[in-house]
Amino acid sequence: MKITDIKTADARYHYIRVYTDEGIYGTGECSHVDQGWRGTLESMKSLLIGHNPMDVDACFERIRHAYIFRGGMSGLGISVLSGLEVALWDLTGKALGVPVYRLLGGQFRDRVRLYVDSAHADYQERAQQVRERGFNAIKFDLDDANNPHKLDRWNWSVTPDELQSMVDQVAQIRAAIGPHMDLAIDLHGRYDGYAGMKLAHALEPYNLMWLEEPVPPENIDALAKITAGTRTPICVGENLYLRHGFRELLQKQAADIIMPDISKCGGLSECRKIANMAEIYYVPFAPHNNSGPLSTLADSHVCASVPNFLALEYHRFDDDTWDGHLALDQSIVQNGHVVFPDAPGVGAELDEEYVRQFARYDGELFQ
Ligand SMILES: [Mg+2]
Repeated sequence: MKITDIKTADARYHYIRVYTDEGIYGTGECSHVDQGWRGTLESMKSLLIGHNPMDVDACFERIRHAYIFRGGMSGLGISVLSGLEVALWDLTGKALGVPVYRLLGGQFRDRVRLYVDSAHADYQERAQQVRERGFNAIKFDLDDANNPHKLDRWNWSVTPDELQSMVDQVAQIRAAIGPHMDLAIDLHGRYDGYAGMKLAHALEPYNLMWLEEPVPPENIDALAKITAGTRTPICVGENLYLRHGFRELLQKQAADIIMPDISKCGGLSECRKIANMAEIYYVPFAPHNNSGPLSTLADSHVCASVPNFLALEYHRFDDDTWDGHLALDQSIVQNGHVVFPDAPGVGAELDEEYVRQFARYDGELFQ
């Protein structure tokens, strides 16, 4: 089998489709890309035409090596490559008639636990909705540039009144969701080292599943200091790329939990390797995800194939248009988990008629 063409569709989410001389194609989704992503894919295309799409890791390395001077370590190039890699796995699974998790070593679990990212939603209302729909894990944002007690929008120290107002919020959230639901709190990597440490300490009584990025992720030593200094578990990784991005973080035990974004930081095979690296440090794997349903389903194959999976992010809890992107009779999200459709590859095709309404560039899909 040989790759004959690769095309993109920009339709709310960012899709890549790989075509072959045997008529089989595979589709992937990449995330967190800017408008240059289609040009980047166009440049990568010539490196893969004529190659066997089922040599997924070799195809990946062929491009990564070629891009070493223009983003082969992080950023747009890796994100586009991630979507391309997912398309290759989808294609390979279809060609062999098996789901992708089967090619990743098989399942540790047959459904994948989701946690509901709730940003600044009404705690009481959201907690009730989430519980009613069968979820047992939730996340809220705590960083707020408009907190009236802040020194100013650019200073991310924490004043005594700001600290108290944040702790009060978490107390209210914990009261709203009750003691049994897992709770994560996101700080978006905005705080100073001592502010991050003060917050991590002050939130210890609330039994968090994790506190996400109390300080920016670039300084591993600063993260390690906080992680070692608090009982609150620290989660890091939505802006790190490839195994290389997680090596020092894990070696220095600078995070208790990691959250790679699979459709951005390297794709399915790479993220399975990242999860395996984390496993030997006894670190759970809880991928970041605010992508479409195709990518969420693709991510789930990795989550099923590693023992140390904790929870996968789900951003579109109150978005009725989300499920429509896939040509399935029912949502992939059932009772707080992703359930795998009984189909080879990633397990679902795009509903192209539905997706076309979001298509940019003359309303055409796959150009
Ligand atoms: Mg986050």
